[in-house]
Amino acid sequence: MCQFSLEPFPAPAALAEEIMSVSAQEVEESLARGGNEARDLLRLLSPAAAPYLETMAQRAHALTQQRFGRVMKLYAPLYISNECTNSCVYCGFNRKQKSARRTLSLEEVWQQAGYLAQQGFRNILLVSGESRQHVPVEYLAACIRRLKPLFPEISIEVYPLETEEYRLLHQAGLFGLTVYQETYIPADYARFHPAGRKRCYAYRLDTPERGAQAGLRQVGLGVLIGLADFRVDAFYLGMHMRYLEKKYWRTVFGLSFPRLRQAGLAFQPPRPVNDRELVQMVVALRFFLPDAPFALSTREPEALRTNLLPLGFTLMSAGSRTTPGGYGLAKPGLAQFHVEDERPVPMIAAELIQHGFEVVWKDWDADFDHCVSPRARGGG
Ligand code: SF4
Repeated sequence: MCQFSLEPFPAPAALAEEIMSVSAQEVEESLARGGNEARDLLRLLSPAAAPYLETMAQRAHALTQQRFGRVMKLYAPLYISNECTNSCVYCGFNRKQKSARRTLSLEEVWQQAGYLAQQGFRNILLVSGESRQHVPVEYLAACIRRLKPLFPEISIEVYPLETEEYRLLHQAGLFGLTVYQETYIPADYARFHPAGRKRCYAYRLDTPERGAQAGLRQVGLGVLIGLADFRVDAFYLGMHMRYLEKKYWRTVFGLSFPRLRQAGLAFQPPRPVNDRELVQMVVALRFFLPDAPFALSTREPEALRTNLLPLGFTLMSAGSRTTPGGYGLAKPGLAQFHVEDERPVPMIAAELIQHGFEVVWKDWDADFDHCVSPRARGGG
């Protein structure tokens, strides 16, 4: 049974007010304490913490190095379908968009995966819009089984599934799951998700927990930054992560920081977040979640990605295409969002090395599975 709820915490409006009323003295107290308690997260997300950003960034850097070393794991998204039954007002895959739709055949998925494997990737994320009809669980299982010999880490970012379905995919070789709540603020969530199965806030909120119950090794969470009050969302996100980490200690929970970009729609981010605010969110969450992998997206431009690298990130996407068939197929489909950092993979790897990072392509092997995850076999 899933149990995470926002009820123990202040409601969004009251929380926003509390964050805005934090004093410099409270920020200093939290920094002195290490920033690891809930009240610290609230304070370090506040405007009062902004003048301390350089100090916070240096400490986040040191903390990340202490926990992870100077490593950066690379992964690539593989878009398998842009069919979607939802109506998220901010997204290029929104069902109201009349552009060409496409779901890759198993053979096409294999071709795309082969391209990524040649680039060196051993960690991929299969991404689709949310359409059970076009991307059934059996199709996902077939993709995973086919790609398993090439990739020790295969994760999915598709529609939310039932626990039993995640278990079935885990048995096929699924490593992890990524699901963004988009925003934790219920009124905003309802406004931006007017139709389709995604309208159900609670079902989505429980998705990371269902994945962990199925024994998935890694589950990624996040909010769509720019959709709602990022300070409030970051606080609730931190609470959700802490809850999951305590309850499902066999699963690694990670964070991504996707910032809303225009995707060929008239939609503008309602609560835009600037670069300094993005950094503040990342470093405040790093103090609160020192052991969580943080992923850096190719949505961010090259120069900013370079500056963000040392601030708490441990993995990043590279060479990404957000169209099904984008890795060299003749007629790729509609893109979900525009990729800002379009540098080729070897260039990104070389830059990481130049900045003193060790580039990691693989840090897991399926042979380890039986050692750590009895839930995957229906136990625990
Ligand atoms: S965000 Fe996801 S669910 Fe919403 S329209 Fe885009 S692909 Fe579909």
